[in-house]
Amino acid sequence: MITANELKKYHNLINGDQTPASTGDMLDNIDPSTGKVWAKIPRSTIEDVETVVASARKAFPSWAELPSIERAEYMRRIGDLLAEHGEELSALETRGNGWVIRETSYGLIPALKQIWYDAAGAASEGSEGETIQMGKSSFGCTLREPLGVVLGITPWNAPLFTFTIKAAYALVAGNTVIIKPSEHAAASSLRYGELLAEILPPGVLSVISGLGSEIGDALVSHPEINKVSLTGSGTTAKAIAQTIAGNPKPLIFELGGKSPNIVFADADLDKAADGITGSIFTGNAGQLCVGGSRILIQRSIFAEMITRIKGKMLNPEITRLGDPMNPESTMGPIANLAQYEKVCSYIDLGVEEGAEIVFGGRHGGEVFFSDQPQLSEGYWVEPTLLKVNSNSLRICQEEIFGPVATVMPFDTVEEAVAIANDTSFGLGAGVWTNDLSRAHQMIRRIAAGNIWVNTYGRVGPGLPFGGFKESGYGTDSILEYTHKKACVIELG
Ligand code: NAP
Repeated sequence: MITANELKKYHNLINGDQTPASTGDMLDNIDPSTGKVWAKIPRSTIEDVETVVASARKAFPSWAELPSIERAEYMRRIGDLLAEHGEELSALETRGNGWVIRETSYGLIPALKQIWYDAAGAASEGSEGETIQMGKSSFGCTLREPLGVVLGITPWNAPLFTFTIKAAYALVAGNTVIIKPSEHAAASSLRYGELLAEILPPGVLSVISGLGSEIGDALVSHPEINKVSLTGSGTTAKAIAQTIAGNPKPLIFELGGKSPNIVFADADLDKAADGITGSIFTGNAGQLCVGGSRILIQRSIFAEMITRIKGKMLNPEITRLGDPMNPESTMGPIANLAQYEKVCSYIDLGVEEGAEIVFGGRHGGEVFFSDQPQLSEGYWVEPTLLKVNSNSLRICQEEIFGPVATVMPFDTVEEAVAIANDTSFGLGAGVWTNDLSRAHQMIRRIAAGNIWVNTYGRVGPGLPFGGFKESGYGTDSILEYTHKKACVIELG
């Protein structure tokens, strides 16, 4: 278990070795609960990009040639390794981005294990082909083959989860993988890489940290990188698409959202209130791509639902803002200073746009922790609900990515659908109703990649996860990390 006072240095994983940046330069990683430096990570260069890509390319042929059942065995061993190192990794994740330890240890680590075991169990998907009738003298078939070197670029809000969802499926399909974590929270990924290197052959998995603005272009445009999977913002996705325009390659973009959470009058209102508060306010302090940030409530229950939501958020059993390393805390800080300033500026903007603060709105460590000086410099924002009259406000249209939601009433199904779809995003949506036919209508009519009815945010092996519209395209899965090759054999 690490403590707040330890300052640890992490290194890239290149060719199976712990490797500093070629210049020796390092970047500070800040603990967002204290605002203090807690770790140092390599500030890699374009020279380091060349080294890491060369090593991943060298490792590719022999990894790709392994029978899928053997690659599956590696995946299983990694899943087992998480049982041994889960506590350490969850602590690093929490220290790096402030996601409360009760969720990183009890929720995140089991989810990572499940992904590795799922990849192992589905390994043969990546090598299955079909036979096709071509007439009497010809025989057709398809083959699946790995792509080569896959680059996974991950965000700061969920480094270990996004690392795993990309690496597990790409590796088991026979690709070698390079992970580039965010400069803001890279320590957990660098240590994860170090642990995985105890199991995987050198070069099969690499981790390289640095500034996206310095090494991003060199990585994505590298001719030896065969696919790029980004989880991040639309701005970065557009920059990547432009960078590779002259040298196109397949992309997976898992981007942001502005997801509606819609409550009809016939719903179980207490369950809906739980689903709403859990989807945006606590846990990772609303820094969740599928956060239910636009709450829509049928007018006849509007006042009652607001009272219920408020009751939950003001209940200290549910909302306990505090040191994310303390298992009692249910909500931690915003993950970094830039994001903290962004979230605060959106709360101010909401007020300027005429939104009414239902609860919350305060920010700054000294406001909440005057008796805990170690937390007073941290990036703290309390859960904030803003009542609005129009979905056209910027706070309803732009992704805030924090514990801030808007709430507005609607009257009819038509109106709920229109407001839900009045967004450039399309990642998730929640629908709370006990009317089966209304639930089906909503599922069909909402333009989003993931719809949850009487639950929110659930994902799982076997279910695809991806976005519509500006929330991206493609989904991390075994098949997306393979080519499908057609073959015709003339027999006579
Ligand atoms: P971001 O700023 O787009 O950064 C994501 C990653 O891209 C980081 O590793 C970043 O490195 C790197 N990057 C930046 N510029 C680059 C460039 N020109 N070329 C290549 N890589 C570059 O996103 P974020 O702020 O870390 O994450 C928050 C966003 O992720 C939100 O929009 C959220 O909704 C989205 N998200 C989506 C999902 C999903 O599954 N749909 C899941 C989680 C998060 P540096 O940090 O070093 O700049």
